[in-house]
Amino acid sequence: MSDAKKSSTVKGAPKLPEVQQHLVRPNDPVIGTIVSTKRCTVSDRSASYVRHIEIDVAGTALEGSWRAGQSFGVLPPGTTPSGKPHKLRLYSISCPTGGETGDGTIISTTLKRLIDEHWDDHTLYLGECSNYLADLQVGDKVELTGPAGKRFLLPENPEDHNFIFFAAGTGIAPFRGMIGDLVKAGMPSRVDLFMGVSYETDLLYDNEFKELAKDYPDRFFYRPAISRHLTHNQSRYMYVQHRLEEDRAVLTEILKSERTLIYICGIAKMEMGIFRMLKRILDPESLAQYLKIDPSIGDDPDQWDRSMIPRKIKPTKRLMLEVY
Ligand SMILES: Cc1cc2nc3c(=O)[nH]c(=O)nc-3n(C[C@H](O)[C@H](O)[C@H](O)COP(=O)(O)OP(=O)(O)OC[C@H]3O[C@@H](n4cnc5c(N)ncnc54)[C@H](O)[C@@H]3O)c2cc1C
Repeated sequence: MSDAKKSSTVKGAPKLPEVQQHLVRPNDPVIGTIVSTKRCTVSDRSASYVRHIEIDVAGTALEGSWRAGQSFGVLPPGTTPSGKPHKLRLYSISCPTGGETGDGTIISTTLKRLIDEHWDDHTLYLGECSNYLADLQVGDKVELTGPAGKRFLLPENPEDHNFIFFAAGTGIAPFRGMIGDLVKAGMPSRVDLFMGVSYETDLLYDNEFKELAKDYPDRFFYRPAISRHLTHNQSRYMYVQHRLEEDRAVLTEILKSERTLIYICGIAKMEMGIFRMLKRILDPESLAQYLKIDPSIGDDPDQWDRSMIPRKIKPTKRLMLEVY
C-alpha cells in the first residue's frame, strides 16, 4: 500500500446494525394516539416552543420496529393552498430502541413549533406540521409512517467506541434515544454530549443530562454551549464548536483515539463550524479519520463553505451527519 493510501485509511470504522425501514408508507399510514405532550425546554420562559411528545403505536406495524437514531413520518391532515395533500414531515425519534416504556409501544419525538414572521411580508408564518403536532392533545390520533434512516445509529458494539455527540436545538432528539440505549447497556462507553442553543432557557432535557453526568461522572460529559448570552460558566458566546475549542485539552486526546465516533444532528449549516474547528485542533492524520478533505480546497478552513460537502469535504464512516 502506498504511503498516501495508508494515511487515508480510516481506523476503527463502526459496524452499524441492519435496521428496518419504510415498514409503514405514506399511502397506508398507521394511526398513533398521543399519550403525553409537554414542554421540554429547561424553562417555561423560553421563547422557543419545544415539546416532548409521546405517541402510542401499540398494535400497529410501527410497534417495536425502530432503533434509536431513526425517524418517523407525520402526515398532517388537510391540503395545501393548491389542493394537494400535505407532504409527510420527518421527526427524529427521541426515545431508546424499546421506546419510552421499553416494550416498543411508545414512540416519542422532540418537536419545535416553526413560528416566524413571513420572509416576504412580515405576516405570521406558522409551519404546517409542527404546529399541527404541537397542538394535539392527549388522546388525539395522528397518522404516522416509518421508521426511516439507516446510518444515524449506534454501532453494533458500542462498547468498542467513544461517542462525541453534537446537537443543536431539536438535534438532541436522536441522542436522547442513543444515550438511553447506552444507559440500558450499563454505559459501556465514554460519551461527550455537546448541546447548542441560543439562550440558556432553551436547553432541552437539561435535568436528565445533568442527572446522567452525576450518575456516570467518568463516562458521561454534558457540555452545553449558549450562543446569545453569557452564563455563570461561559465567558463568551458559544456555538458547539467553541465549547469543543474551550475543552480541547481533553477532547483532542479523545478525538485522536481510534475508538471515537462523531455524530452531528440539528440545524443545517452547524456542521461547517464543527468541521472548521476539527481542522484547527487536529493534526492531519487525526482529521483524516473523520473527514476526507480534497487538497484543492486549501488549508485555511475559513475559506471552506458548505457547498464543498460532500464532494470536497466528505465525512468518513466515523462521522455521522444528520442536519435539516
Ligand atoms: C431527518 C429529519 C429529522 C427531523 N427531526 C426533527 C425533530 O426531531 N424535531 C423537529 O422539530 N423537526 C425535525 N425535523 C424537521 C421537520 O421535518 C419539519 O421540517 C419541521 O417541523 C417544519 O415543518 P412544518 O410543516 O412545521 O413547516 P413547513 O410548513 O413545512 O414550513 C417550512 C418551510 O417553509 C419555509 N419557511 C420557513 N420559515 C419561513 C418564513 N419565515 N417565511 C416564509 N417561509 C418560511 C421554508 O422554506 C421551509 O421549507 C426533521 C427533519 C428531517 C429531514
